[in-house]
Parts: sequence; structure tokens; C-alpha cells
Amino acid sequence: MVAYLRIRRLPALQDNLIPLLEQPGEGRAAVVDPAEAEPVITALDHGGMELVAVLHTHHHWDHIGGTAELLQRWPQAMVVGNGADQHRLPPLSHPVADGDRFVLLDRTVEVLAVSGHTNGHLAYVLPACVMGGQEQPPELFCGDTLFSCGCGRLFEGTPGQMLMSLQRLAALPPQTRIWCAHEYTAKNVAFALSQDPHNSTLQSFAHHVQQLVQAQLPTIPSRLELELQVNPFLRCHTPALQAATGQTDPEAVLAELRRRRQKL
Ligand SMILES: [Zn+2]
Repeated sequence: MVAYLRIRRLPALQDNLIPLLEQPGEGRAAVVDPAEAEPVITALDHGGMELVAVLHTHHHWDHIGGTAELLQRWPQAMVVGNGADQHRLPPLSHPVADGDRFVLLDRTVEVLAVSGHTNGHLAYVLPACVMGGQEQPPELFCGDTLFSCGCGRLFEGTPGQMLMSLQRLAALPPQTRIWCAHEYTAKNVAFALSQDPHNSTLQSFAHHVQQLVQAQLPTIPSRLELELQVNPFLRCHTPALQAATGQTDPEAVLAELRRRRQKL
């Protein structure tokens, strides 16, 4: 029987979330985008786990900052990232590219290129499966491309690239759990309401997020089926967002939404 996978998010820095993937029965774990090493080391030591892999979505310092220290402790861990971006990532033992697949903790991982926030930004998808008799939903680790109710800033890419990347993520199964790299949800919801005020699902979600924040509970992971209804950056083709921005082309809608979000 294959041990099931448990996923947690470790708070780091100011508002980063480091996804920690654990196979408790096997004593093995992996992390995505370790902003810093200390919370990962603490969690693994507490659970008696060995780190077997570090996955990177992109090169920003708050996504790679802990990798070197983790490798000092677990030098055998595989280090995964975009081969085309390796000059600005920690040394990769496993450079990957769009469409690649590999096995991590007995799960298949699919690599998706999702440029926009940076060139060479990757997302990692774990398709649904049954492990140890338990249904495991599809999981998405998307770094700074898709946030709950928002998307990442366009540091290197164009609105067209970001639109295409978000459309790739939107085509994943609706039950996909979304593990983004920052807890920005409350701010994103406030912005979304300002652009899409008559969206009743968004209104309900805003109330739910407010309750979570008050209880000091995390809003992540989100689910794709919800994001498709509330996230303005996944709704650039809808009349509501077209009217709000005064644009019809989804790329122009996204560009205008991103410009307005930046001003907050
Ligand atoms: Zn970033």
C-alpha cells in the first residue's frame, strides 16, 4: 500500500506560504519555493522527516532564499526548476521544461510553463489519484502566477502571456486545489469587489475570507472551481469585467485590471 500525501503550508517571511508535501508513513517530504530554511527544518525535524526534493517555480529571492541551507542539511535532495532559467536559480539537479513529467513522493508531477510574472515561471500539477485507499485531489503549485482572487505582477512578461498562462491553469480539473505562494487573499478580494461588485459568489466569498482572517486562519489552499467564479483575472472574458474596464479584448481587460490593482 502506498502511503498517502499530506500537504501543509508553512508561513514564512511576511506573507509567503511554503507548501510542504509529506508522506508521513515513509518519513519523506518535499517543499516548493522555500523562502527561508528555518520553518522547513523545524517542521521536518518535528515530524522526523527527510527532505527529498525542492521544487522552484521562479527565481525571485523570496522563493529560493532557503534552498542552499536546506541542501546543506539534506544534500541528496533533488533540486527542480526551469532549465532555461538555471542561471538565476539554485544549482538544479533536475532541470525541467514545459510538458515534462516526473515522480515525486509516489505522485506524478506535470510541469506547465506559465510566463507572465517572470519569464520561465513554472507551475507544478499533481493529477488526482488514489493512494493508500484515499482519494487524492489534483494539486497545483503555481508560485506567483495565480493567487486566490488575484494574479501576480507582470515583472517580465506581457498581459498576453499572463492571460495565456492563466487560461492554462483555468483548464485544469475544477476540483484542483490551488497552493499559491502568498497570503494576499483579503486584499485581492477587496480589489475584486471594487471591479465586480454585483457578483454574488464573490460577495459570499468575501464574507468567508473575512471570517477566516478574523479567526487568524489561512485562506489557502483555494479551489479552481471557486476561483473561476470570483477571480477577476480568470474572468477577463465576462461582460461584468469588460464593462468595469471599458475593454472587450480579454488581454486588454487583464492589462487594465493589473494596472488598477497596482495602484492599491
Ligand atoms: Zn515572484
